[in-house]
Amino acid sequence: MKPVRVLSIASEIYPLVKTGGLADVTGALPIALTAEGIEARTVVPGYPSVMNSLGPVARVLHLPDFFGGEARLLGTTSGELGLFVLDAPHLFARPGNPYLTPEGMDWPDNALRFAALARMAADIGLGAVPSFVPDIVHAHDWQAALAPAYLHYSKSKRRRPATVLTVHNLAYQGVFPREMLAAIGLPSESFTIHGVEYYGSIGFLKAGLYFADRITTVSPTYARAILSDEGGMGLAGLLRERSGDLSGILNGIDTSVWDPATDPHIPGCFDADIPSCFESDVLPNRAANKAALQRRLGLQPDPDAFLLGVIGRLSGQKGLDLLLETIPTIVNQGMQLALLGSGDRGLQFRYRAAAQANPGRVGLLIGYDEGLAHLIQAGADALVVPSLFEPCGLTQLCALRYGTIPIVSRVGGLEDTIVDADDSAADCRQTGFKFGPVTTDNLVSVLQRACAAFHDAAAWRRIQRNGMSTDVSWRNAASRYADLYRGLGVQRQYKVA
Ligand code: ADP
Repeated sequence: MKPVRVLSIASEIYPLVKTGGLADVTGALPIALTAEGIEARTVVPGYPSVMNSLGPVARVLHLPDFFGGEARLLGTTSGELGLFVLDAPHLFARPGNPYLTPEGMDWPDNALRFAALARMAADIGLGAVPSFVPDIVHAHDWQAALAPAYLHYSKSKRRRPATVLTVHNLAYQGVFPREMLAAIGLPSESFTIHGVEYYGSIGFLKAGLYFADRITTVSPTYARAILSDEGGMGLAGLLRERSGDLSGILNGIDTSVWDPATDPHIPGCFDADIPSCFESDVLPNRAANKAALQRRLGLQPDPDAFLLGVIGRLSGQKGLDLLLETIPTIVNQGMQLALLGSGDRGLQFRYRAAAQANPGRVGLLIGYDEGLAHLIQAGADALVVPSLFEPCGLTQLCALRYGTIPIVSRVGGLEDTIVDADDSAADCRQTGFKFGPVTTDNLVSVLQRACAAFHDAAAWRRIQRNGMSTDVSWRNAASRYADLYRGLGVQRQYKVA
């Protein structure tokens, strides 16, 4: 049987360019899909970090005037990933991150930049690259979400591929002035409630939600949450209309990148899969990682202090303003806090002040540091994820694999992936500590509850063991996506115009 061909569209992809969990997903899912008989390739923008890390490339298309400049579509590979790279220097050859200037402002032409990416994907979907004509076009987040709209309004007589849109975070919607419509090459009739119009503007995510054949998001609880007026963030009505086509598929993590047995970023590797590693009271080598983490962030070298780790974007979503308010409790009760994050300047300032006020107890690095993220996962005792909402969350999955016990709010994918230590119905599946509603008082209580369990070595080891034997790989998710693709009526025969 001919393999199903999927073209994934991603504005970031690990290891070439990453600002958050989206890159982890788009970098790992296509590889996991191979085992399911799916042939996936991904189209990505040619940012400098991408262009500088490419091996041999083939020029697949030359586009003399593409969204205001000359562009090329390159075909290449990166490790096990098959890639198309949209090399459009006038759109992507810039410093800063994929979405922001070095000063932290949105690039003013983001509408054009990501419309170009989606348009390229739609063209590939319609057969622009004869050697790879996809059955399915799979868009990730608003940056890719215009692809189903371009396919809908295309005048091509070729048969359209089926489309899937995955929402990784509904808070980011890609909303732009209506005056951009002509510049992004959509017809005036598309500016309607039954098209790309969204409260008087152009909504990229809205368009994708309207036109995609199937919609997925990254956990079952989040899939339900976005149907409510509060969780739907202005899109609940449309999502409710489309709820028959909406499903939640939990993410996995790349267990070869997040593997404590081979992790090059940690001094003490340990094998999460060998039962014998549970025979002693403490996981071998975890103590060395904890000491290294304490040294790295200037924390007191205390093996018995309950060390809390935090890794994430400093944004309102992540609940880190609440965590700031718990610092007196953390410090007074002999705990330590190791934080790695970047983002909101106000939060950066307040965390820096907290670290200065509590030397040896609160240590942090403001910035993006892949190696330190791994060291926190391997050396902290618990990982705190107090998000107000969380579509899936990946850091708690990495934590499970590294024997770091997650302390999480009861929202979205955090609710779906962690089983509370007090859930007596699930004795052998308890993997962490949960709290909700998300308030400072509840966060203080859950930290105290976890701290008490930490000082009960047998209880702590049992929860650690449960977490480390949880399957956090992409296996389950890949098989769910493969079923979805197959169900969309694959093996399409394309009519040539
Ligand atoms: P989100 O996608 O909302 O940012 P996720 O938990 O889904 O959150 O994914 C975050 C990913 O980004 C994880 O792989 C995490 O380790 C990584 N990460 C987040 N912030 C940093 C940082 N400052 N330095 C290094 N890695 C980070």
